[in-house]
Amino acid sequence: MKDLTKLFGENVFNDSVMKERLPKDTYKALRKTIEEGTPLDLSIANVVAHAMKEWAMEKGATHFTHWFQPLTGITAEKHDAFLNPAGDGTAILSFSGKELIQGEPDASSFPSGGLRATFEARGYTAWDCTSPAFVKDGSLCIPTAFCSYNGEALDKKTPLLRSMEALSKEATKVLKALGNTEVNRVITTVGPEQEYFLVDKTMYDQRKDLILTGRTLFGAKAPKGQELEDHYFGTIKHRVSEYMKELDEELWKLGVSAKTKHNEVAPAQHELAPIFATTNIATDHNQLTMETMKRIALKHGLVCLLHEKPFAGINGSGKHNNWSMATDTGVNLLEPGATPQDNKQFLLFLSAVIEAVDEYADLLRLSAANPGNDHRLGANEAPPAIISIFLGDQLTEVLRQIDEETHDDYKSASSLSIGVSTLPVFKKDATDRNRTSPFAFTGNKFEFRMVPSAGSIAGPNVVLNTTVAEILSKYAARLDAAKDVDAEVDAIIKETIKAHKRIIFNGNGYSDEWVEEAAKRGLPNIKSTVEANLAFISEKNIDVMKKHSVLSEVEMHSRYEIGLENYIKTINIEALTALDMAKKQYLPTVIKYSTSLAESINTIVATGVGADVSVQSELLKSVSALTASASAKVVALEAALAKAEATEDLYKEAYSYRYDVFEAMQALREDIDTLETMVDSKFWPVPSYTDLLFSV
Ligand code: ADP
Ligand code: MG
Repeated sequence: MKDLTKLFGENVFNDSVMKERLPKDTYKALRKTIEEGTPLDLSIANVVAHAMKEWAMEKGATHFTHWFQPLTGITAEKHDAFLNPAGDGTAILSFSGKELIQGEPDASSFPSGGLRATFEARGYTAWDCTSPAFVKDGSLCIPTAFCSYNGEALDKKTPLLRSMEALSKEATKVLKALGNTEVNRVITTVGPEQEYFLVDKTMYDQRKDLILTGRTLFGAKAPKGQELEDHYFGTIKHRVSEYMKELDEELWKLGVSAKTKHNEVAPAQHELAPIFATTNIATDHNQLTMETMKRIALKHGLVCLLHEKPFAGINGSGKHNNWSMATDTGVNLLEPGATPQDNKQFLLFLSAVIEAVDEYADLLRLSAANPGNDHRLGANEAPPAIISIFLGDQLTEVLRQIDEETHDDYKSASSLSIGVSTLPVFKKDATDRNRTSPFAFTGNKFEFRMVPSAGSIAGPNVVLNTTVAEILSKYAARLDAAKDVDAEVDAIIKETIKAHKRIIFNGNGYSDEWVEEAAKRGLPNIKSTVEANLAFISEKNIDVMKKHSVLSEVEMHSRYEIGLENYIKTINIEALTALDMAKKQYLPTVIKYSTSLAESINTIVATGVGADVSVQSELLKSVSALTASASAKVVALEAALAKAEATEDLYKEAYSYRYDVFEAMQALREDIDTLETMVDSKFWPVPSYTDLLFSV
């Protein structure tokens, strides 16, 4: 049995390694930089770099890389060897403080949304010492932020760090105004639960759509889906369990605290949850988790699909972004305690979240938007595209009484008798489970459930941190100006509930009634990624990002462009793949099948015995009719694609991809999927949903 405590973090240059390997003064200076953001002296960086290199080489590293998160949403790395020629035919190994602190990858091929003219293609990476370096695959990986020559953010990490600063600053102000003078910093914490699918590699390899787009563009429903609810929390199959074991170990080595694993609702779907960490580290770790999931799968003859909707008709995958705020003195600001009605500080921070989510619902919706998630939000067993907050009965009752100025006895919602006399009365969680809410209070944190499975969690947390910081800054100003702070706190809470209670909804978010009700309440229902991107360029949203120095106007515009460009490219690849499969695989197959039916009919008729060929004849007629229909839809898809491509304006082009191209793809799919149910499976050119979902 391996010593798991030794295994954990074995490839991470973490605090204990630093303490052990760095001279005391260097360690102290570095800690100061990590904790307070003070600039790091180059001489100190040199000492740290040397220690890092020695440590990394003991772990088998030969290279170092600045590891960063460009706006593609995945990570990027460029490796440089420690080895340098000494000039006399021999070589030395070196890694300087300068190389640790700053890098200059050729940035010209990363999305910049017009931020970087080609004559100024330079981009810089800067060491983020708040997230520890680690060794992966023979390279020392240094987490970095990535920006342009002019200092504009070209990545996901820079605004995330800025938003954490903003929240810390404003939350600390509020706490100080409440008399909490010992708090110097507030950090946001995140635990992202990650869903994924596993399919057999030999099946995967036969599907161009999975290879090129990450999802099945065609495929008739399998006779069995998730209706028996036998997969959720079901016994984990041997092959999957072997995969999960290795995945856990690899993640533990990287210091990722993988904690929980189980089968999810859909067949072949699973989930992994880590223990929460500081937002920045949780974000880095989630990227490492996704990357490791894919890598380890291949070793087991599997492919890990992170797409939000790999299969139609069954659940897709998301990420549950559990988020809270904690002080440097160790207090979770979203912990209600036993009597939340008396916990004013909690209620004030709760109010701030409620107000932020209602005021900036469009930004939050945008932060969860990607082409894959368009299939999920508002569809089968996924949160609606409407943002609302679930608070649970107890808190809702607390807020109602504040709102209505009543003082009814609090129903003892916190204890619950389960009706079996031999069992004690036990404490019920402050909130019940509600799986249909996009943004649910779960006891001492909020769980943002819309987040796409394949995306970075940086965006959603940038929005949460910044918008909550904005509301807290308003509260802090009021509290500072107030004569009676207690009375002002009451007033703020009351006003917030009155003005923003429309965002609170404890019912079934998957129901049609909610869509109607939300419209009555004036809550936005933003249909797709295309419309969602407009939130990047609204004045109000630009203002809030600018005010807290998270993203400038130029940076917001660049992200708007990148969002739309990414949408266009994704749907374009999907449409081309669909056309390719339809023309080269499906149509030839059904023609071959029709021919075989025709030959069979002819052969039987030629016997002259007068045998009944009506079954074959009817089938031939139906298959031929559908083939003609599918063929016409291929032409229609080509026309839609040509139309979209010819559209000049970026927004209109993206819109055309959504409402012309995407729709034409869906229409074509319908015919092909129906044909799949009619054609002899020996003829079918690709593995079916049954093959894919029940093969592992
Ligand atoms: P679920 O019941 O939704 O599966 P769990 O109780 O297993 O949820 O926890 C979900 C995630 O929430 C875990 O990653 C956990 O570490 C994280 N979490 C717990 N407390 C906090 C917190 N204060 N801040 C952020 N995340 C947290
Ligand atoms: Mg959860």
